[in-house]
Amino acid sequence: MKYRSIAIDGPSGAGKSTLAKRLAQELGFLYVDTGAIYRTVGVAVHRQGIDPADGTAVAALLPELGITMGYGEDGLQHMFLDGEDVTTAIRENEISAYASKAAAIPAVREFLLEMQRRLSREHDVIMDGRDIGTVVLPQADLKIFLTAAPEARAQRRYRELLARGQQADFVHVLAEVIERDRRDMERETAPLRQAEDAVVADTTALDLEGSLQLLLGLIREHLHV
Ligand code: C5P
Repeated sequence: MKYRSIAIDGPSGAGKSTLAKRLAQELGFLYVDTGAIYRTVGVAVHRQGIDPADGTAVAALLPELGITMGYGEDGLQHMFLDGEDVTTAIRENEISAYASKAAAIPAVREFLLEMQRRLSREHDVIMDGRDIGTVVLPQADLKIFLTAAPEARAQRRYRELLARGQQADFVHVLAEVIERDRRDMERETAPLRQAEDAVVADTTALDLEGSLQLLLGLIREHLHV
């Protein structure tokens, strides 16, 4: 049996994970958050005190990395590092930059590729990331490029941090969003870009419900679910 796959790519803060999670529930697909996998590498690099931009040092760490993922009874994806559940730790603000710097290293991407592909061979998946439609699942049944203006994305991220009780400054958050976009788009290996056959969905002016309806419409049109 062939499993179906939906790839959602786009910059950080466009709503990929929130929307993909809801869509997966709605459709009965497995939600795969690939950013969480890169973030787990980020946590490992951080804990080892390694410079995340040092390709040689990070590549040397990879063979020792025990990264696994599992799905809890809540149906949500949990990440484990050497058996420890790091699902919360990967969301720390400083880990974002660690993940994005480590993600620019070709050896890291190569190391994580098969883990991502295997999931799509074993389940119907909605997978979100930066290179899902272009590299990980080029044969996806539907590719969505989800985007929004940087200010709107920074605003969402800012509110999220405050809601989590973390300190945040909007101007700083916006600068981080712009910097991360630049790094994700300008890197040589698997940069963030729209696949030629992707459908663009812009959520700048939409709330969560509006975005969800937009994507559900696209999915029903393309996958006949
Ligand atoms: O999506 P999220 O912000 O959690 O991803 C963290 C970082 O991981 C991103 O900034 C990006 O650099 C990297 N990433 C990637 N390819 C993916 C998913 C995430 O390079 N498929």
